[in-house]
Amino acid sequence: MDSAPHEGAQVSPPEPVRRVMAVLRERGHGAWLVGGCVRDSLLGREVHDWDLATSAKPKQVSRLFPRVIPTGIDHGTVTVLQDDEPIEVTTLRGEGAYTDGRRPDEVFFVSDIEEDLARRDFTVNGMAVDGRGAMVDPFGGLEDLASRTIRAVGDPLERFTEDGLRVLRGARFVATLECELDAKTEAAFGPTLPIFRKVSPERVRDEWLKTMKAQRPSRAFAVMKRTGLLAACCEPLDGLDDQDWRASLSALDRCELSGAERLGALFHRVPVAAVDDWLKAYRFSNAERKVLVGTVTAADAPLNGSDEALRRWLAPVRPMLDAALGVVRAVHEDDGEAFGRRVRAMNPSALTLNVGDLEVRGEDVKAAGAQGRAIGEVLRTLLDEVLTDPTRGSRTTLLARIQELMEDRA
Ligand code: ATP
Ligand code: MG
Repeated sequence: MDSAPHEGAQVSPPEPVRRVMAVLRERGHGAWLVGGCVRDSLLGREVHDWDLATSAKPKQVSRLFPRVIPTGIDHGTVTVLQDDEPIEVTTLRGEGAYTDGRRPDEVFFVSDIEEDLARRDFTVNGMAVDGRGAMVDPFGGLEDLASRTIRAVGDPLERFTEDGLRVLRGARFVATLECELDAKTEAAFGPTLPIFRKVSPERVRDEWLKTMKAQRPSRAFAVMKRTGLLAACCEPLDGLDDQDWRASLSALDRCELSGAERLGALFHRVPVAAVDDWLKAYRFSNAERKVLVGTVTAADAPLNGSDEALRRWLAPVRPMLDAALGVVRAVHEDDGEAFGRRVRAMNPSALTLNVGDLEVRGEDVKAAGAQGRAIGEVLRTLLDEVLTDPTRGSRTTLLARIQELMEDRA
Protein backbone atom coordinates (compact mmCIF):
# COMPACT_ATOMS: atom_id res chain seq x y z
CA MET A 1 0.00 0.00 0.00
CA ASP A 2 1.10 3.58 -0.59
CA SER A 3 1.86 5.77 2.33
CA ALA A 4 -0.74 8.47 3.00
CA PRO A 5 0.19 11.89 1.69
CA HIS A 6 0.79 14.58 4.26
CA GLU A 7 1.40 18.30 4.36
CA GLY A 8 5.03 18.95 3.50
CA ALA A 9 5.51 15.55 1.92
CA GLN A 10 8.58 15.53 -0.26
CA VAL A 11 8.37 16.10 -3.97
CA SER A 12 11.97 15.51 -5.00
CA PRO A 13 12.64 15.77 -8.69
CA PRO A 14 15.90 14.44 -10.10
CA GLU A 15 18.81 16.81 -10.66
CA PRO A 16 18.16 17.64 -14.35
CA VAL A 17 14.60 18.72 -13.51
CA ARG A 18 15.84 20.90 -10.62
CA ARG A 19 18.35 22.41 -12.99
CA VAL A 20 15.69 23.37 -15.55
CA MET A 21 13.53 24.90 -12.81
CA ALA A 22 16.51 26.84 -11.46
CA VAL A 23 17.39 28.26 -14.88
CA LEU A 24 13.80 29.36 -15.44
CA ARG A 25 13.65 31.02 -12.01
CA GLU A 26 17.03 32.74 -12.41
CA ARG A 27 15.61 34.41 -15.51
CA GLY A 28 12.60 35.57 -13.57
CA HIS A 29 10.08 33.04 -14.84
CA GLY A 30 7.77 30.99 -12.70
CA ALA A 31 8.41 27.24 -12.77
CA TRP A 32 6.33 24.51 -11.16
CA LEU A 33 6.15 20.78 -11.07
CA VAL A 34 2.56 19.90 -12.00
CA GLY A 35 0.06 17.13 -12.37
CA GLY A 36 0.91 13.46 -12.20
CA CYS A 37 4.44 13.90 -10.81
CA VAL A 38 3.19 15.86 -7.78
CA ARG A 39 0.37 13.41 -7.19
CA ASP A 40 2.56 10.31 -7.53
CA SER A 41 5.34 11.77 -5.34
CA LEU A 42 2.85 12.47 -2.58
CA LEU A 43 1.60 8.92 -2.84
CA GLY A 44 5.15 7.65 -2.52
CA ARG A 45 4.97 6.16 -6.00
CA GLU A 46 7.55 6.10 -8.69
CA VAL A 47 7.25 9.11 -10.99
CA HIS A 48 7.68 8.49 -14.71
CA ASP A 49 7.28 12.02 -16.12
CA TRP A 50 8.37 15.18 -14.33
CA ASP A 51 6.21 17.73 -16.12
CA LEU A 52 7.00 21.40 -15.65
CA ALA A 53 4.72 24.37 -16.04
CA THR A 54 6.25 27.77 -16.61
CA SER A 55 5.19 31.34 -17.14
CA ALA A 56 7.89 31.63 -19.84
CA LYS A 57 6.66 31.53 -23.43
CA PRO A 58 7.79 28.56 -25.55
CA LYS A 59 10.18 30.76 -27.52
CA GLN A 60 11.74 32.04 -24.30
CA VAL A 61 12.15 28.49 -23.04
CA SER A 62 13.79 27.51 -26.34
CA ARG A 63 16.28 30.35 -26.02
CA LEU A 64 17.23 29.47 -22.44
CA PHE A 65 18.34 25.92 -23.13
CA PRO A 66 20.85 24.72 -25.70
CA ARG A 67 18.98 21.54 -26.57
CA VAL A 68 15.22 21.69 -27.06
CA ILE A 69 12.72 19.80 -29.18
CA PRO A 70 9.61 21.79 -30.18
CA THR A 71 7.35 18.85 -29.23
CA GLY A 72 4.01 20.61 -29.18
CA ILE A 73 5.04 24.20 -29.52
CA ASP A 74 1.54 25.18 -30.67
CA HIS A 75 0.16 23.91 -27.36
CA GLY A 76 2.99 25.55 -25.47
CA THR A 77 5.08 22.43 -24.90
CA VAL A 78 8.79 22.13 -25.58
CA THR A 79 10.99 19.26 -24.53
CA VAL A 80 14.21 20.38 -22.90
CA LEU A 81 17.09 17.93 -23.05
CA GLN A 82 18.98 18.44 -19.82
CA ASP A 83 21.86 16.03 -19.15
CA ASP A 84 20.26 13.84 -21.85
CA GLU A 85 17.00 13.68 -19.87
CA PRO A 86 13.92 14.83 -21.81
CA ILE A 87 11.84 17.20 -19.68
CA GLU A 88 8.52 18.59 -20.89
CA VAL A 89 8.09 22.27 -20.18
CA THR A 90 4.65 23.68 -20.86
CA THR A 91 3.71 27.33 -20.78
CA LEU A 92 0.83 28.14 -18.45
CA ARG A 93 -2.34 28.31 -20.44
CA GLY A 94 -4.40 31.46 -20.40
CA GLU A 95 -1.27 33.30 -19.50
CA GLY A 96 -1.77 37.01 -19.53
CA ALA A 97 -5.52 36.84 -19.15
CA TYR A 98 -5.30 38.32 -15.70
CA THR A 99 -2.62 40.93 -16.48
CA ASP A 100 -4.25 44.15 -15.46
CA GLY A 101 -1.01 45.95 -14.71
CA ARG A 102 -1.91 46.49 -11.06
CA ARG A 103 -1.10 43.09 -9.63
CA PRO A 104 2.33 42.48 -8.19
CA ASP A 105 4.31 39.88 -10.04
CA GLU A 106 4.14 37.19 -7.34
CA VAL A 107 0.40 37.39 -7.29
CA PHE A 108 0.38 37.39 -11.07
CA PHE A 109 2.42 34.22 -11.08
CA VAL A 110 0.40 32.57 -8.36
CA SER A 111 -2.95 33.37 -9.91
CA ASP A 112 -1.55 32.23 -13.20
CA ILE A 113 -0.59 28.77 -12.01
CA GLU A 114 -3.98 28.57 -10.34
CA GLU A 115 -5.62 29.35 -13.61
CA ASP A 116 -3.60 26.61 -15.23
CA LEU A 117 -4.56 24.17 -12.48
CA ALA A 118 -8.23 25.10 -12.91
CA ARG A 119 -8.10 23.63 -16.41
CA ARG A 120 -7.04 20.22 -15.14
CA ASP A 121 -9.41 17.33 -14.71
CA PHE A 122 -9.29 16.11 -11.10
CA THR A 123 -8.22 17.76 -7.87
CA VAL A 124 -5.50 15.18 -7.27
CA ASN A 125 -4.05 16.17 -10.68
CA GLY A 126 -4.52 19.87 -9.98
CA MET A 127 -1.60 20.52 -7.65
CA ALA A 128 1.73 22.20 -8.32
CA VAL A 129 5.00 22.64 -6.41
CA ASP A 130 7.33 25.57 -6.98
CA GLY A 131 11.12 25.61 -6.97
CA ARG A 132 11.30 26.12 -3.21
CA GLY A 133 9.01 23.20 -2.53
CA ALA A 134 5.90 25.28 -1.77
CA MET A 135 2.65 23.59 -2.64
CA VAL A 136 -0.02 25.24 -4.81
CA ASP A 137 -3.27 23.43 -4.08
CA PRO A 138 -6.28 25.64 -4.77
CA PHE A 139 -8.80 22.80 -5.13
CA GLY A 140 -8.03 20.61 -2.14
CA GLY A 141 -6.12 17.95 -4.01
CA LEU A 142 -4.01 17.11 -1.00
CA GLU A 143 -7.04 16.42 1.13
CA ASP A 144 -8.65 14.36 -1.63
CA LEU A 145 -5.47 12.38 -2.05
CA ALA A 146 -5.45 11.68 1.69
CA SER A 147 -9.05 10.45 1.63
CA ARG A 148 -8.49 8.73 -1.71
CA THR A 149 -11.15 10.70 -3.54
CA ILE A 150 -11.35 11.38 -7.26
CA ARG A 151 -13.18 14.68 -7.57
CA ALA A 152 -13.51 16.90 -10.63
CA VAL A 153 -11.96 20.34 -10.44
CA GLY A 154 -14.96 22.69 -10.33
CA ASP A 155 -18.30 21.65 -11.79
CA PRO A 156 -18.04 18.05 -13.02
CA LEU A 157 -20.80 18.43 -15.61
CA GLU A 158 -19.00 21.37 -17.15
CA ARG A 159 -15.60 19.69 -17.03
CA PHE A 160 -16.84 16.43 -18.57
CA THR A 161 -18.64 18.41 -21.26
CA GLU A 162 -15.40 20.19 -22.23
CA ASP A 163 -13.59 16.90 -22.74
CA GLY A 164 -15.51 13.65 -22.91
CA LEU A 165 -12.45 11.53 -22.14
CA ARG A 166 -12.27 12.76 -18.56
CA VAL A 167 -14.91 10.30 -17.33
CA LEU A 168 -12.78 7.41 -18.53
CA ARG A 169 -9.68 8.97 -16.95
CA GLY A 170 -11.67 9.23 -13.72
CA ALA A 171 -12.53 5.54 -13.85
CA ARG A 172 -8.88 4.77 -14.60
CA PHE A 173 -7.64 6.74 -11.59
CA VAL A 174 -10.10 4.91 -9.32
CA ALA A 175 -8.11 1.80 -10.22
CA THR A 176 -4.55 3.04 -10.57
CA LEU A 177 -4.67 5.31 -7.51
CA GLU A 178 -6.96 2.99 -5.53
CA CYS A 179 -9.46 5.76 -4.89
CA GLU A 180 -13.22 6.17 -4.73
CA LEU A 181 -15.24 8.50 -6.95
CA ASP A 182 -16.78 11.51 -5.29
CA ALA A 183 -20.60 11.16 -5.55
CA LYS A 184 -21.22 14.44 -7.37
CA THR A 185 -18.42 13.64 -9.81
CA GLU A 186 -19.90 10.21 -10.49
CA ALA A 187 -23.37 11.68 -10.97
CA ALA A 188 -22.02 13.66 -13.93
CA PHE A 189 -20.90 10.54 -15.81
CA GLY A 190 -24.32 9.53 -17.14
CA PRO A 191 -25.40 12.93 -18.49
CA THR A 192 -22.07 13.46 -20.30
CA LEU A 193 -21.87 10.08 -22.03
CA PRO A 194 -22.98 11.60 -25.36
CA ILE A 195 -19.81 13.72 -25.21
CA PHE A 196 -17.71 10.70 -24.27
CA ARG A 197 -19.04 8.87 -27.33
CA LYS A 198 -17.41 11.48 -29.57
CA VAL A 199 -13.92 10.91 -28.16
CA SER A 200 -11.47 9.38 -30.64
CA PRO A 201 -11.03 5.62 -30.36
CA GLU A 202 -7.26 6.06 -29.99
CA ARG A 203 -7.63 8.12 -26.83
CA VAL A 204 -10.08 5.59 -25.40
CA ARG A 205 -7.70 2.74 -26.22
CA ASP A 206 -4.81 4.49 -24.48
CA GLU A 207 -6.86 4.85 -21.29
CA TRP A 208 -7.82 1.17 -21.37
CA LEU A 209 -4.15 0.30 -21.70
CA LYS A 210 -3.12 2.58 -18.84
CA THR A 211 -5.81 0.96 -16.70
CA MET A 212 -4.06 -2.38 -17.18
CA LYS A 213 -1.19 -1.06 -15.04
CA ALA A 214 -3.35 -0.97 -11.92
CA GLN A 215 -3.00 -3.69 -9.37
CA ARG A 216 -6.76 -4.23 -9.60
CA PRO A 217 -8.05 -2.85 -12.92
CA SER A 218 -11.50 -4.24 -12.05
CA ARG A 219 -12.04 -1.16 -9.88
CA ALA A 220 -12.17 0.96 -13.03
CA PHE A 221 -14.45 -1.47 -14.82
CA ALA A 222 -16.86 -1.59 -11.90
CA VAL A 223 -17.21 2.19 -12.18
CA MET A 224 -17.58 1.96 -15.95
CA LYS A 225 -20.27 -0.70 -15.64
CA ARG A 226 -22.43 1.12 -13.11
CA THR A 227 -22.19 4.51 -14.82
CA GLY A 228 -23.00 3.34 -18.34
CA LEU A 229 -19.50 4.11 -19.57
CA LEU A 230 -18.84 0.48 -20.40
CA ALA A 231 -21.99 0.27 -22.53
CA ALA A 232 -20.81 3.38 -24.34
CA CYS A 233 -17.45 1.94 -25.33
CA CYS A 234 -17.61 -1.84 -25.14
CA GLU A 235 -20.93 -3.53 -25.81
CA PRO A 236 -19.53 -7.07 -25.93
CA LEU A 237 -18.32 -6.81 -22.33
CA ASP A 238 -21.34 -4.88 -21.18
CA GLY A 239 -23.55 -7.64 -22.57
CA LEU A 240 -22.08 -10.41 -20.41
CA ASP A 241 -24.40 -11.86 -17.79
CA ASP A 242 -23.62 -11.28 -14.11
CA GLN A 243 -21.75 -14.51 -13.59
CA ASP A 244 -19.55 -14.09 -16.68
CA TRP A 245 -18.92 -10.46 -15.81
CA ARG A 246 -17.75 -11.32 -12.30
CA ALA A 247 -15.54 -14.11 -13.62
CA SER A 248 -14.03 -11.71 -16.16
CA LEU A 249 -13.19 -9.10 -13.53
CA SER A 250 -11.62 -11.64 -11.16
CA ALA A 251 -9.51 -13.08 -13.95
CA LEU A 252 -8.44 -9.58 -14.95
CA ASP A 253 -7.22 -8.75 -11.45
CA ARG A 254 -5.45 -12.06 -11.05
CA CYS A 255 -3.73 -11.72 -14.41
CA GLU A 256 -0.06 -10.88 -14.02
CA LEU A 257 0.46 -9.76 -17.61
CA SER A 258 0.92 -6.12 -18.42
CA GLY A 259 -0.27 -3.96 -21.28
CA ALA A 260 -2.65 -5.15 -23.96
CA GLU A 261 -2.05 -8.82 -23.13
CA ARG A 262 -3.84 -8.42 -19.82
CA LEU A 263 -7.03 -7.65 -21.75
CA GLY A 264 -7.08 -11.31 -22.75
CA ALA A 265 -8.20 -12.17 -19.22
CA LEU A 266 -10.92 -9.51 -19.28
CA PHE A 267 -12.30 -10.64 -22.65
CA HIS A 268 -12.05 -14.38 -22.12
CA ARG A 269 -15.85 -14.87 -22.01
CA VAL A 270 -16.54 -12.78 -25.10
CA PRO A 271 -16.85 -14.55 -28.49
CA VAL A 272 -13.54 -14.13 -30.27
CA ALA A 273 -15.02 -12.51 -33.39
CA ALA A 274 -16.59 -9.80 -31.24
CA VAL A 275 -13.27 -9.27 -29.48
CA ASP A 276 -11.51 -8.80 -32.81
CA ASP A 277 -14.14 -6.35 -34.07
CA TRP A 278 -13.80 -4.34 -30.88
CA LEU A 279 -10.00 -4.28 -31.09
CA LYS A 280 -10.24 -3.09 -34.69
CA ALA A 281 -12.74 -0.38 -33.81
CA TYR A 282 -10.46 0.92 -31.08
CA ARG A 283 -7.41 0.89 -33.33
CA PHE A 284 -5.34 -1.72 -31.55
CA SER A 285 -2.31 -2.67 -33.66
CA ASN A 286 -2.34 -5.82 -35.78
CA ALA A 287 0.22 -7.35 -33.43
CA GLU A 288 -1.94 -6.64 -30.36
CA ARG A 289 -5.02 -8.01 -32.11
CA LYS A 290 -3.24 -11.19 -33.08
CA VAL A 291 -2.03 -11.82 -29.55
CA LEU A 292 -5.35 -10.98 -27.94
CA VAL A 293 -7.44 -13.05 -30.29
CA GLY A 294 -4.96 -15.88 -29.73
CA THR A 295 -5.05 -15.64 -25.96
CA VAL A 296 -8.84 -15.33 -25.77
CA THR A 297 -9.10 -18.50 -27.84
CA ALA A 298 -6.38 -20.15 -25.75
CA ALA A 299 -8.20 -19.38 -22.48
CA ASP A 300 -10.47 -22.31 -23.29
CA ALA A 301 -7.63 -24.74 -22.58
CA PRO A 302 -7.92 -28.55 -22.36
CA LEU A 303 -6.93 -28.52 -18.67
CA ASN A 304 -7.00 -32.27 -18.10
CA GLY A 305 -6.48 -33.15 -21.73
CA SER A 306 -4.22 -35.77 -23.27
CA ASP A 307 -0.75 -34.84 -24.50
CA GLU A 308 -2.24 -34.76 -27.97
CA ALA A 309 -4.87 -32.25 -26.84
CA LEU A 310 -2.10 -30.09 -25.39
CA ARG A 311 -0.13 -30.21 -28.64
CA ARG A 312 -3.23 -29.23 -30.62
CA TRP A 313 -3.89 -26.37 -28.18
CA LEU A 314 -0.27 -25.28 -28.56
CA ALA A 315 -0.17 -25.26 -32.36
CA PRO A 316 -1.70 -21.79 -32.87
CA VAL A 317 -0.59 -20.47 -29.48
CA ARG A 318 3.15 -21.09 -29.44
CA PRO A 319 4.14 -17.66 -30.84
CA MET A 320 2.33 -16.03 -27.91
CA LEU A 321 2.83 -18.70 -25.30
CA ASP A 322 3.69 -16.45 -22.33
CA ALA A 323 0.59 -14.34 -22.86
CA ALA A 324 -1.62 -17.37 -23.42
CA LEU A 325 -0.40 -19.13 -20.29
CA GLY A 326 -0.70 -15.88 -18.33
CA VAL A 327 -4.38 -15.74 -19.27
CA VAL A 328 -4.92 -19.46 -18.65
CA ARG A 329 -3.45 -19.08 -15.13
CA ALA A 330 -5.61 -16.02 -14.44
CA VAL A 331 -8.76 -17.75 -15.64
CA HIS A 332 -8.25 -21.28 -14.29
CA GLU A 333 -6.08 -20.58 -11.22
CA ASP A 334 -4.50 -23.78 -9.83
CA ASP A 335 -5.66 -25.91 -12.76
CA GLY A 336 -4.26 -23.31 -15.13
CA GLU A 337 -0.97 -23.30 -13.26
CA ALA A 338 -0.71 -27.08 -13.54
CA PHE A 339 -1.64 -26.91 -17.21
CA GLY A 340 1.12 -24.36 -17.81
CA ARG A 341 3.68 -26.58 -16.13
CA ARG A 342 2.66 -29.53 -18.30
CA VAL A 343 2.86 -27.44 -21.47
CA ARG A 344 6.31 -26.08 -20.61
CA ALA A 345 7.57 -29.57 -19.78
CA MET A 346 6.70 -30.64 -23.34
CA ASN A 347 9.39 -28.23 -24.58
CA PRO A 348 7.11 -26.47 -27.08
CA SER A 349 9.87 -25.02 -29.24
CA ALA A 350 11.06 -28.52 -30.16
CA LEU A 351 7.59 -29.84 -31.10
CA THR A 352 6.22 -30.25 -34.60
CA LEU A 353 3.19 -27.99 -34.45
CA ASN A 354 2.76 -26.66 -37.95
CA VAL A 355 3.53 -27.60 -41.54
CA GLY A 356 6.76 -25.62 -41.47
CA ASP A 357 8.09 -27.77 -38.62
CA LEU A 358 7.73 -31.02 -40.63
CA GLU A 359 10.91 -32.79 -41.73
CA VAL A 360 9.56 -32.91 -45.27
CA ARG A 361 8.79 -30.03 -47.64
CA GLY A 362 6.41 -29.36 -50.48
CA GLU A 363 9.12 -30.48 -52.92
CA ASP A 364 9.12 -33.93 -51.32
CA VAL A 365 5.39 -34.25 -51.93
CA LYS A 366 5.77 -32.90 -55.46
CA ALA A 367 8.51 -35.42 -56.16
CA ALA A 368 5.99 -38.14 -55.29
CA GLY A 369 3.70 -36.82 -58.05
CA ALA A 370 1.40 -34.36 -56.28
CA GLN A 371 0.45 -31.03 -57.87
CA GLY A 372 -1.26 -27.81 -56.84
CA ARG A 373 -3.59 -27.96 -53.87
CA ALA A 374 -2.84 -31.64 -53.30
CA ILE A 375 0.62 -30.70 -52.00
CA GLY A 376 -0.76 -28.67 -49.13
CA GLU A 377 -3.42 -31.27 -48.39
CA VAL A 378 -0.83 -34.01 -48.06
CA LEU A 379 1.35 -31.86 -45.79
CA ARG A 380 -1.61 -31.07 -43.55
CA THR A 381 -2.52 -34.72 -43.31
CA LEU A 382 1.07 -35.49 -42.28
CA LEU A 383 1.00 -32.75 -39.67
CA ASP A 384 -2.27 -34.03 -38.29
CA GLU A 385 -0.77 -37.49 -37.93
CA VAL A 386 2.35 -36.18 -36.21
CA LEU A 387 0.25 -34.10 -33.81
CA THR A 388 -1.53 -37.33 -32.89
CA ASP A 389 1.69 -39.32 -32.63
CA PRO A 390 5.01 -37.43 -32.64
CA THR A 391 6.97 -40.69 -33.05
CA ARG A 392 5.80 -40.65 -36.68
CA GLY A 393 7.68 -37.41 -37.37
CA SER A 394 11.03 -38.61 -38.74
CA ARG A 395 11.87 -37.82 -42.36
CA THR A 396 12.09 -41.50 -43.33
CA THR A 397 8.64 -42.24 -41.87
CA LEU A 398 7.14 -39.16 -43.49
CA LEU A 399 8.59 -39.93 -46.94
CA ALA A 400 7.12 -43.45 -46.77
CA ARG A 401 3.79 -41.97 -45.67
CA ILE A 402 3.80 -39.57 -48.63
CA GLN A 403 4.07 -42.57 -50.99
CA GLU A 404 1.11 -44.29 -49.28
CA LEU A 405 -1.02 -41.16 -49.37
CA MET A 406 -0.28 -40.63 -53.06
CA GLU A 407 -1.25 -44.21 -53.83
CA ASP A 408 -4.53 -43.71 -51.90
CA ARG A 409 -5.23 -40.57 -53.92
CA ALA A 410 -4.50 -42.21 -57.27
P1 ATP B 1 -0.34 9.20 -16.05
O1 ATP B 1 0.92 9.86 -16.48
O2 ATP B 1 -0.22 8.22 -14.98
O3 ATP B 1 -1.18 8.78 -17.18
P2 ATP B 1 -1.16 11.84 -15.51
O4 ATP B 1 -2.13 12.42 -14.53
O5 ATP B 1 0.24 12.30 -15.42
O6 ATP B 1 -1.24 10.31 -15.34
P3 ATP B 1 -1.11 12.73 -18.17
O7 ATP B 1 -1.97 12.32 -19.32
O8 ATP B 1 0.35 12.47 -18.21
O9 ATP B 1 -1.76 12.08 -16.91
O10 ATP B 1 -1.37 14.30 -17.96
C1 ATP B 1 -0.61 15.12 -17.09
C2 ATP B 1 -1.52 16.11 -16.37
O11 ATP B 1 -2.25 16.89 -17.33
C3 ATP B 1 -2.59 15.47 -15.51
O12 ATP B 1 -2.13 15.16 -14.22
C4 ATP B 1 -3.67 16.50 -15.51
O13 ATP B 1 -3.35 17.54 -14.61
C5 ATP B 1 -3.59 17.07 -16.91
N1 ATP B 1 -4.48 16.40 -17.86
C6 ATP B 1 -4.17 15.36 -18.66
N2 ATP B 1 -5.20 15.01 -19.43
C7 ATP B 1 -6.20 15.86 -19.12
C8 ATP B 1 -7.54 16.03 -19.58
N3 ATP B 1 -8.06 15.21 -20.52
N4 ATP B 1 -8.27 17.01 -19.04
C9 ATP B 1 -7.76 17.84 -18.09
N5 ATP B 1 -6.53 17.73 -17.63
C10 ATP B 1 -5.74 16.75 -18.12
MG1 MG C 1 1.87 11.72 -16.82
